[in-house]
Amino acid sequence: NTTVTVIGAGLAGSEAAWQVAQSGVPVTLYEMRPVKNTPAHQTENFAELVCSNSLRGNNLTNAVGVLKEEMRRLDSVIINSADKTAVPAGGALAVDRDTFSQEITDKIKNHPLITVKNEEITAIPDGIVIIATGPLTSEALAEQIKEFNGSDGFYFYDAAAPIVDKATIDMDKVYLKSRYNKGEAAYLNCPMTEEEFKAFYEALISAEVVPLKTFEKEKFFEGCMPIEVMAKRGIKTMLFGPLKPVGLEDPKTGKRPYAVIQLRQDNAAASLYNLVGFQTHLKWGEQKRVFQMIPGLENAEFVRYGVMHRNSFMNSPELLKPTYQSQKRENLFFAGQMTGVEGYVESAASGLLAGMNAARLAKEEELIVFPRETALGSMAYYITHAEGKHFQPMNANFGLFPELPERIRDKKERYEAIADRALTTLAKMKQDLTIKE
Ligand code: FAD
Repeated sequence: NTTVTVIGAGLAGSEAAWQVAQSGVPVTLYEMRPVKNTPAHQTENFAELVCSNSLRGNNLTNAVGVLKEEMRRLDSVIINSADKTAVPAGGALAVDRDTFSQEITDKIKNHPLITVKNEEITAIPDGIVIIATGPLTSEALAEQIKEFNGSDGFYFYDAAAPIVDKATIDMDKVYLKSRYNKGEAAYLNCPMTEEEFKAFYEALISAEVVPLKTFEKEKFFEGCMPIEVMAKRGIKTMLFGPLKPVGLEDPKTGKRPYAVIQLRQDNAAASLYNLVGFQTHLKWGEQKRVFQMIPGLENAEFVRYGVMHRNSFMNSPELLKPTYQSQKRENLFFAGQMTGVEGYVESAASGLLAGMNAARLAKEEELIVFPRETALGSMAYYITHAEGKHFQPMNANFGLFPELPERIRDKKERYEAIADRALTTLAKMKQDLTIKE
């Protein structure tokens, strides 16, 4: 019987190993802890949550809630264990982190088709392999992955700007224009008066930031500077940087605003926009409070907050297929944060698809590309079709799904319709493929 090798027993690797084994295919799962540790993990258990104990929203009016529900229906070990070890958290699914990881570790270790080996893997093995070694992949393997993938194969990333859902931008306040009208009008511009700018500046320099982990400090200022650090250099600094208004006169008045914040299209469907130059280390709640002061963004929904932490990920649009297979080697899969999905649930979700497909490859069955109407498929589509040059990791969000056939104005109703379509699509797919619950 063909065995599948899974490397890394984190959120993605645990789910992948489970899915392969549940399909009747034997698995060898390699995990380097406790022989070698990462700078963030504290225990030797599988699927350890390195930071928050929340798996975020659990309702179907939340994209990550839809993703969880799809995973539940596909026998996810991560979500089923989270449900079992949940602690009260309002609309979110939060867990007791120790019993959560223990539950998963026990289920995996007791599975008759899974063999666990505590070893650091330093070279990509032959055969059917799933690499799920996460954002803190050990150095030796990271080097091998870089070599395998080529120059932009695997890099450190320290900063990402927040992204908003276009449907929640007040389009009466912003205007479409490129600086000096050069090329196609590509940016949405949020104009600020002097008073608005001053209030925004004050809020920004006094907002609360996330404390850095020691291992994150070294690379912090190399790439790009957090907007709040730039602001602290002086009240005018941002006006010569990302908030520069020259060439961005408001077409309605012909006048140059005091400051302009530009939003750049983030996905091919133009449903998501990022705040140009706004990589930040502000706490998420603070980002919402301060960035909603930007004219046009008063009610903006942040589908992804700005983050600054160490994160190795690959340029998936150039390297992966929506099955999570390498474009270069069909029996090599990647899963988890390293593929450019962002978050615990998203990492596990990619492990689920990679595991399902690796098992199908082992059984010589046709591989599955999940439809974009499903949350699982929308993530896989995004990471393999986003623009490679500006590719940044992404959380599950409603902006990644294809539009509904008709426009529904009410946000809650719109999200419910997208969720409903996702679960109907999944049910049909399962029927066609005869996947059991
Ligand atoms: P991991 O869960 O890290 O799993 C990778 C596993 O591979 C680890 O167990 C590691 O020991 C093992 N490994 C590494 N190299 C090797 C090797 N060569 N051989 C064998 N085993 C190896 N997401 C959230 O949703 N909420 C948060 O609060 C959050 N906080 C984060 C904080 C930090 C500091 C970081 C870095 C990330 C955070 N993330 C958070 C992002 C992400 O969701 C987590 O990193 C998540 O654990 C990713 O899952 P994964 O399976 O890709 O990697």
